[in-house]
Amino acid sequence: MVVLWRLSSLLVALALVLVPRTHGWSKEGHVLTCRIAQGLLEPEAAAAVENLLPDYANGDLSSLCVWPDQIRHWYKYRWTSPLHFIDTPDNACSYEYSRDCHDTNGVKDMCVAGAIQNFTSQLVHYREGTSDRRYNMTEALLFLSHFMGDIHQPMHVGFTSDEGGNTISVRWFRHKSNLHHVWDREIILTALADYYEKNLDSLQEELVGNFTDGIWFDDVASWEECDDLLTCSNKYANESINLACKWGYKGVEPGQTLADEYFGSRMPIVMKRIAQGGVRLAMVLNLVFGDSQHGFAAAS
Ligand SMILES: [Zn+2]
Repeated sequence: MVVLWRLSSLLVALALVLVPRTHGWSKEGHVLTCRIAQGLLEPEAAAAVENLLPDYANGDLSSLCVWPDQIRHWYKYRWTSPLHFIDTPDNACSYEYSRDCHDTNGVKDMCVAGAIQNFTSQLVHYREGTSDRRYNMTEALLFLSHFMGDIHQPMHVGFTSDEGGNTISVRWFRHKSNLHHVWDREIILTALADYYEKNLDSLQEELVGNFTDGIWFDDVASWEECDDLLTCSNKYANESINLACKWGYKGVEPGQTLADEYFGSRMPIVMKRIAQGGVRLAMVLNLVFGDSQHGFAAAS
């Protein structure tokens, strides 16, 4: 009996390890977000980022932007697991910090918007040059960079009962997937394969071209708008749940096959969200690390 119980609890533990809830843009999505951001850094912020990155990153922020996904199941970092997403009330299609930003035990601020606030306010202390050991600035940079990507993935601000689409099984063309995964990964990978010869550099070039002198050129100023560095993440979460309702969940039935029509209409949204995440990450880092005149007032 005891052995059986042990065995079943071991199986439960194994299942928890083997079937984790997925968290965030695929590697490609995070890499793109961080590469775009790093390309937009002003000299002071670029120097701070380089200084905070460990040597083995060779100055490349994007090489460590998936780190928070890799460590989220480690004992030491298990507390970060709820920080990758926000669960909102089913079908409400709205987000409110005070109502929704908590973990499953109701602990406040434990969601992706709260995490962005937390790590942003930690990074603000970087310029003080204090020897304050409460904060690990390198980790704060990596978490902020990762979560700025996650909060722009519409299904990361999804409904509670389906875990942001994770429990909605669908087919993506011919293989099995789920709705959350379609937005994390499938749309990006299909786009890379169909239009960019699986070359991430080409996709990045196109996204950057779109906002430097292309279809998003006129929008970038509004993407960067942020009156209060610590609450702007709420705006991004709001955008995400609206997109999740309008484009993510819309018309999708469990078991359905999603293919050309869904891909064609959703791909532009995924691309825009990745670009927005990059532009906004750069905006935050430029303010936090940059010239004291404007940045510090906004951040304090
Ligand atoms: Zn994540």
